[in-house]
Amino acid sequence: MNDNLATLDAQPEAIHQLASYKTLEVDELQSRIDAVRQQLGDSLLTLGHHYQQDEVIAHSDLRGDSYKLSQMAADSESCETIVFCGVHFMAETADILANRPDKLAERDGRRVNVILPDLAAGCSMADMAAISQVEAAWDDMSEVIDTEKVIPVTYINSAASLKAFCGKHGGIVCTSSNARAVIQWAFERGERVFFFPDQHLGRNTSLGMGIDESHMPVWDPYALDLGGNTEIAIQQSRVILWKGHCSVHQMFRAEHVHSFRKQHPEIKILVHPECPREVNDLADVSGSTGKIIETVERASAGTKWAIGTELHLVNRLKAEHPEQEIHFLSPVVCMCATMYRIDLPHLCWSLENLRDGAIVNKIEVDQQTAHWSLIALERMLAIK
Ligand code: SF4
Repeated sequence: MNDNLATLDAQPEAIHQLASYKTLEVDELQSRIDAVRQQLGDSLLTLGHHYQQDEVIAHSDLRGDSYKLSQMAADSESCETIVFCGVHFMAETADILANRPDKLAERDGRRVNVILPDLAAGCSMADMAAISQVEAAWDDMSEVIDTEKVIPVTYINSAASLKAFCGKHGGIVCTSSNARAVIQWAFERGERVFFFPDQHLGRNTSLGMGIDESHMPVWDPYALDLGGNTEIAIQQSRVILWKGHCSVHQMFRAEHVHSFRKQHPEIKILVHPECPREVNDLADVSGSTGKIIETVERASAGTKWAIGTELHLVNRLKAEHPEQEIHFLSPVVCMCATMYRIDLPHLCWSLENLRDGAIVNKIEVDQQTAHWSLIALERMLAIK
């Protein structure tokens, strides 16, 4: 994990030790998880991200993408604890939204606890932009451009500290479904956009808005000067892209699309905009996780798809839509290995500790960071 992730400094002692859960059979884990969920009732909300493995999703009260899940959790009136079966930045966003000042006032100051069953469930993309690197880049670019006229935009798949950076500097958060509207918002307020941490979402969205790639330098945080760019490239930029990517979506290639089209000329290619440009440009449809699901749900029986997104989601769509022919776009396994760390032993361990009074793996964003992150999130929410 990088230097910008929030957890409680002092985690409480676990009553039950994790090691003993790793030897339990799946049936036993499942029945013990069910028992705790029943016992805690509405005070507990377990959230399952779309990319989560099936046996964990089976124990989720709600399923969705990270932002939708956090919003639903924040709107729950009876919830006292959220167990987020996703990755670290998602749990942070849930903590920020569920414990924002208006929600705290409604609950007479009572905080909602947010638990991530395995603290090692990070996100490789979020980890590619540490707050110290983003701050250094900002200072560095201020030598050649006026950063007062740069609007920082962070993808929601980022640490809370990056969202707070955007909040402080007149910037905003985006999701994969509203990135275009958010970049438009940014251009109404500044001359250029600094987009992090996913270069592909930033590039694919900006290309779709008619911005030429020659005006999108990529900022490499490990390069010595100006992220590896010339002064002129930064001065002529419209969107400065951070050199980060999702290790799952980065695996899809143009040759995968060509190969499917050769074998099945009628096939439709459906991809997530975190995929590289070469794939995104060739796709019939590109869109967020929500759009991918909706597109499949609305298609007529007999439609053939090759889908470029996380494997667990594609397999679930296959199982839920036997009337359509669904293929995974890549010949190699592309799954979110960090999300996969949340398994039944970790889930059972965190739930039984919770039931018995120990809140293990609690994610709590510090007040300042939460305040500025919320400002950036609220700017996004205000966009219609
Ligand atoms: S799929 Fe990619 S962006 Fe999403 S959590 Fe996993 S590594 Fe991060």
